[in-house]
Amino acid sequence: MRTVVWFKRDLRVSDHPALAQAAAQGEVIPLYVFEPDYWAQPDVSGRQFDFVVESVRELGAELQALGVPLVVRVGSVVDALQDLKRSFAFDAILSHEETGSAWTYARDRDVAAWSAANGIVWSELAQSGVVRRLNGRDGWAKQRNAFLRQPQVDVPAGLTGPVLPSDDVPRLVAEDHCPDRQRGGRQMALSLLGSFLIERGQSYRKDMSSPVTGEWSCSRLSPYLAFGCLSGREASQAAAARQREVKGTREGWGGSLKSFQARLAWRDHFMQKLEDEPVLEHRCLHSAYEDMRPKVPDEERLAAWEKGETGMPFVDACMRYLAATGWMNFRMRSMLMAVASYHLWLDWRVTGLHLARQFTDFEPGIHWPQSQMQSGTTGVNTVRIYNPVKQGKDQDPTGVFTRRWCPELVDVPDEFLQEPWAWDGADTVLGKRYPAPVVDVLDAARQAREKVWAVRRGAAFRDEAKRVIHKHASRKDSQGHFVDDRNPRKRYKAGVSPAQDTRQMGFDF
Ligand SMILES: Cc1cc2nc3c(=O)[nH]c(=O)nc-3n(C[C@H](O)[C@H](O)[C@H](O)COP(=O)(O)OP(=O)(O)OC[C@H]3O[C@@H](n4cnc5c(N)ncnc54)[C@H](O)[C@@H]3O)c2cc1C
Repeated sequence: MRTVVWFKRDLRVSDHPALAQAAAQGEVIPLYVFEPDYWAQPDVSGRQFDFVVESVRELGAELQALGVPLVVRVGSVVDALQDLKRSFAFDAILSHEETGSAWTYARDRDVAAWSAANGIVWSELAQSGVVRRLNGRDGWAKQRNAFLRQPQVDVPAGLTGPVLPSDDVPRLVAEDHCPDRQRGGRQMALSLLGSFLIERGQSYRKDMSSPVTGEWSCSRLSPYLAFGCLSGREASQAAAARQREVKGTREGWGGSLKSFQARLAWRDHFMQKLEDEPVLEHRCLHSAYEDMRPKVPDEERLAAWEKGETGMPFVDACMRYLAATGWMNFRMRSMLMAVASYHLWLDWRVTGLHLARQFTDFEPGIHWPQSQMQSGTTGVNTVRIYNPVKQGKDQDPTGVFTRRWCPELVDVPDEFLQEPWAWDGADTVLGKRYPAPVVDVLDAARQAREKVWAVRRGAAFRDEAKRVIHKHASRKDSQGHFVDDRNPRKRYKAGVSPAQDTRQMGFDF
């Protein structure tokens, strides 16, 4: 038997169910396809391309060491398979399930059609806690946790298969300037996992929310998880081993590792939403919000936000930092999205595309549900309108981050750094070296809140909100852990009161 292992967002050889199964069955043709049409999509960028090129290179070296070189092709996947088949017969294709964009879903349908027409069996295996063809969220957490607890899949002892030529890979997407981008590849992933679990993660819980401390204290594993240089199960089991090691010590590790495990669960939880409802990439989860914001954005506001020139210092600092690094901590991503959606009243589909391109770790299944959640279009979440002035004061109390990324504000005294318009020397800076704010921060938030609540008060709102809760809401206990709620008595025993339950669901949809 000869099997093509089609690598997608799983650029590793360890804990790789598809590779292990193919190796056990016989000869293997490992394939990665750089698809020009994918790299022409509006949600991708040069920083992601560079990261993938580096990761594929390392994957190639790992496969070579196991005995078979990676076949790298440029073109459509169907053309690559057709071409392979001409030179070497194969019986099956194995890959992992992908919770991707509408484009990758359509591409997968083409591959399925080609496989069926050519008598080749294409099987997709799970590689995360995301469950395909799920009927509602009851019982999901149990299935997810069971997958995460299963032993990791061993690296095959060796591979056999034909040696086939690869294509040279041209640059398929314009370069974007990201000087501090994280480098791709498995080695970096392992090194970050190690340093996080041994050193950097100790104050994770306390330090994750500030961009000043988060850069060091967050795991920084997101691009490696997004492109599969590391599996979620590897990360979670390594953290569990560390949890056993630090049990009983009082150095902050316990809380931090618990929070990290919770974030890994969020990852699957959010990806499950797009898996269950792929239109989330394009449509508001609650239809009442569909026409709330103009579909065609205010060009000036959009450009100011994208360039980090809104005149709101902390927002601009975060956006400039993101442009230069390709990464941002969770709270600041939420603030960037919320300011765009509420204060600037821009449609999440447009601003979400800009952020997707800025993130090296772009993961559609996390990105689109999060973008909607921070924009108040789910219908079941608390409307959370961040005040960027308060966020700046709370998360960058010394101003070091804001001053670094907005050096134009050098003359503004500390107490006015986050609201330079309130300083009596404002006219020496605003509209000259640094823009005046594009909106009045408090007034814009008030107007947005009123508009969102006007929609919420509409007659049909509640019925659809119930549907959203059934399909997507997390089932959590009072500590915020996902629980299996098929049995309500068990849930309430776990410390969840019905009232709390609704609030929790409302919080994380
Ligand atoms: C509008 C918006 C868009 C986002 N888009 C993406 C995206 O495209 N890709 C992406 O990986 N994350 C996205 N996130 C989630 C989160 O901000 C990042 O995962 C996190 O900041 C990555 O840094 P880290 O690896 O150091 O995370 P850590 O805090 O160390 O967390 C470990 C891992 O848990 C997962 N995780 C952490 N926070 C979340 C969360 N809130 N929701 C779901 N999973 C989480 C990630 O896989 C992360 O790598 C988005 C958040 C928002 C608000």
